[in-house]
Amino acid sequence: MNHETAVSSAKEIADRVLAPAARENDKQAKFSPEAIKSLGSAGLLGIMLPTDIGGSALSPRTFAAIVSVLAEADASVAMVYLMHVCAAATITSARNGAAVAPILKEIAAGRHLSTLAFSEAGSRSHFWAPVSRAKRNEAGVHISAKKSFVTSAGHAHSYVVSTLAPEGKGPTDSTLYLIANGTRGLSVAGPWDGLGLRGNASAPMTLDDCPVTPESQLTDDGAGFQAMLQVVLPLFNLGSAAVSLGLCRAAVVGTAAHLKTARFEHLGQSLGESLPTLRAQLATMQIDTDGLAARVDDVIDHLERPRETTMLRVLESKAAAGDTAIAVTSAAMRACGGAAFSKHMAIERLFRDAHAGAVMAPTGDVLREFIGKAVLGLPLF
Ligand SMILES: Cc1cc2nc3c(=O)[nH]c(=O)nc-3n(C[C@H](O)[C@H](O)[C@H](O)COP(=O)(O)OP(=O)(O)OC[C@H]3O[C@@H](n4cnc5c(N)ncnc54)[C@H](O)[C@@H]3O)c2cc1C
Repeated sequence: MNHETAVSSAKEIADRVLAPAARENDKQAKFSPEAIKSLGSAGLLGIMLPTDIGGSALSPRTFAAIVSVLAEADASVAMVYLMHVCAAATITSARNGAAVAPILKEIAAGRHLSTLAFSEAGSRSHFWAPVSRAKRNEAGVHISAKKSFVTSAGHAHSYVVSTLAPEGKGPTDSTLYLIANGTRGLSVAGPWDGLGLRGNASAPMTLDDCPVTPESQLTDDGAGFQAMLQVVLPLFNLGSAAVSLGLCRAAVVGTAAHLKTARFEHLGQSLGESLPTLRAQLATMQIDTDGLAARVDDVIDHLERPRETTMLRVLESKAAAGDTAIAVTSAAMRACGGAAFSKHMAIERLFRDAHAGAVMAPTGDVLREFIGKAVLGLPLF
């Protein structure tokens, strides 16, 4: 598989599986196992894994293109995929001694979905500071934690879980563990009935004295924070920006279609032919969407050729993309008027999904806090 074939597989799945079901899955807040099965069968779950375990070793460029294509059809599935790829990257970079090879092979074979369980009820969006703490015993550790939102909760085959190291001193001295679905004490703690991204099963989960063996410890004690920053954050922010880009593209396409087909019969013109103000709104949406595409390309370039400004661009990408997706989908709501408001078209789902992406941690506010500190040369944490 190469970049082109991977993206064209994603497009085929988006058209055949995601788009026809997106409206109903959103309505019912239904997770789509069909979408994950199709992505797995096409080899897209192991897109960035090394070739020696069966992955395609493709780059963040391909990952971002796949995510935006999926998000154009259904942002909930795109977010599930994004979380999986972040989890798979974390598992791939596991410390020596972690027994992750069988799971990586299952991911590469398209049979294993993973996700991140970082956010906790106690520290909310400050995912880098879990309040739970692992307790050590002879067999490994036990973890009790209240995870506030976990994408793919109850559907994933494994969870990358953060918790404070047993002997950690500070609030960021966390460790990451891989916990299999079905582990004793691990359960979904409630339903997911969000305003947006309703199909991604982002329910709370409880870990109640879950036993974890040393082979499932992904990072050294206290090294979870570094893995979050170095492995997860760049991919998560890039992927979030790609989700926003897919939402913007869908909003432009949906708005253009509406302006071409909805008519003022008494004037003998379509909305687009009749109203310059709608054409101007559509133009602004197009400008913002293409601007976001350029930003996504820029952050990919910074990841491919790391340099001094790379972390800043990574931080900026999600904050800017979230704002753009909200602005573009809001403009679409306005341009499509009552037809969008009364849910006759997909625009209002895009609008809700754009808002959900923006509150996912690191939130736009938190990113601005980090960016401001970075520009001033202040420590981020
Ligand atoms: C659809 C969805 C899917 C999710 N999936 C996952 C997942 O798979 N895994 C996971 O671990 N988590 C997940 N989350 C959780 C998410 O990452 C955040 O932790 C959660 O949305 C934070 O919500 P909160 O209200 O508790 O945030 P709070 O921390 O209470 O924030 C409230 C407000 O304060 C602002 N704020 C907070 N701190 C600062 C600061 N330092 N400076 C300025 N402003 C600040 C925030 O931007 C926000 O506007 C998901 C959330 C959603 C909505």
